[in-house]
Amino acid sequence: MFEEIIQLKGREKGTTSIILVGVHGDEKCGIEALEKILPILEIKRGIVLFGYGNPRAIKANKRYTEANLNRMFIDENFTPKEKESYEYQRAQFLKNYLNKADALLDIHASSIPNSRAFIICEANAGEIVKFFPVNLVVSGFDRVEPGGTDYYMNTKGKVGICLECGYMKDPQTTRVAEKSIFAFLKARGHVNNDLIPERQLYIQMFKKYFAKTDKFTLSKPFENFEVVEANQPIGIDGQEEVKALKRSQILFAHNGTKIGDEVFLLGEEKESLV
Ligand SMILES: [Zn+2]
Repeated sequence: MFEEIIQLKGREKGTTSIILVGVHGDEKCGIEALEKILPILEIKRGIVLFGYGNPRAIKANKRYTEANLNRMFIDENFTPKEKESYEYQRAQFLKNYLNKADALLDIHASSIPNSRAFIICEANAGEIVKFFPVNLVVSGFDRVEPGGTDYYMNTKGKVGICLECGYMKDPQTTRVAEKSIFAFLKARGHVNNDLIPERQLYIQMFKKYFAKTDKFTLSKPFENFEVVEANQPIGIDGQEEVKALKRSQILFAHNGTKIGDEVFLLGEEKESLV
């Protein structure tokens, strides 16, 4: 049942949207939210597609089985081995459905305890995400971390939204996912919108750091969006100390064991969604 895409159609004409859950198979909040919503949902306008991103990883309760599905949505020269992977094939399948939709909501959760919920999108999603029950909106990912489903939509001139619902083992994430799915459906006109916009904080990511050696060690554990001041040490890369160049907010910080490991991202606060 997880493999196929589910389509719901309203009586009235409208836009086409797609909602993906389980692109990372062990991030259960979207899957649980969908199971609650689908039996009761009625679409008034347009078409909504619902898909389980990575069925094989969902069954195995793993992030992925052979390759990270959320890096496969880029036109890049993948190695023959990567192209043989289940995830590469699945990405090609999912692209057919992404191509049919004008806007995407892709639901994730974080493996870092105490992670707060945040939205990843670009300015083109502003009119939709302002209704989400999530007060942090992060942009700039298309540049620092391309290849996700939201990146794919944005490069096609469509709207791509990725929602991080919080720490994956926190049951609250399912509630965040559920409420956000409804906010997305309302903002997209598929059901009537009774929501008022939320107050949100905007952060733009500007840098991703790749380990230069096979031993990158963080100076301390960093929580997502923790503030690092200018010249504050972030980690040691081999022999070299890595510092923040300006006051920044750090994201997804972890130790690295291979050259090229993605060990942290940096962003900065903005007045509006840019
Ligand atoms: Zn994820």
